Amino acid sequence: MWHDDNDDIMKLYKLLEEHEFNCPFPAVCPVCGSKSGHIYMHRYDEKHHGGSWVWCSKCHNYSHGSGSVPEWWRNLSNISILKLKHSPDYLESQAELIDSLVNNLLGIPDDKLMKETTYVDPICADQTEYSIILLEGNEPSVEIVRAVNQVSHRNLLKSKELIMNAPLVIFVGDALEVHDMIEILDAGFVEYKIEPDYPYE
Ligand SMILES: [Zn+2]
Repeated sequence: MWHDDNDDIMKLYKLLEEHEFNCPFPAVCPVCGSKSGHIYMHRYDEKHHGGSWVWCSKCHNYSHGSGSVPEWWRNLSNISILKLKHSPDYLESQAELIDSLVNNLLGIPDDKLMKETTYVDPICADQTEYSIILLEGNEPSVEIVRAVNQVSHRNLLKSKELIMNAPLVIFVGDALEVHDMIEILDAGFVEYKIEPDYPYE
């Protein structure tokens, strides 16, 4: 149901540069003209590598790419990194929150926004540096090694060594980055703990 063969949808990216013109999201779709265009980006690491999506809820045109995400971008904590796919199916289900976040990030004045004015995500304001500590006793199964590999950014062999030498810190980052890593670790059934106490779900 989603089509990614019409490059016109990518004109939605321009709104990020031209936001002084106050075009709040949902934006006018460059393909069908209805006010149902959205944009979302997700940063994967501290080097600002990430994925980006533009899509229209009405005509279902979309485009997905990967590359570097602007430094001012903040991931939405409701978005599960594990559910992000090429097509924006999952993002569409979160479109209202996403639009609200983007409008906020672009600093569009509240009176220009459609309804619920601001969405402040407490996890974004948290500047604490959290450490993820891999606990002893994890079996070096395929799932666990792969999860540790994704979180630690080490190769599979090194990841196996980390598991054998635990307890060890395998990741240090802010609340939002840790949030993504937790999802990966939980999906792989990895035993770990976080210091200091991590107050988010
Ligand atoms: Zn459209």
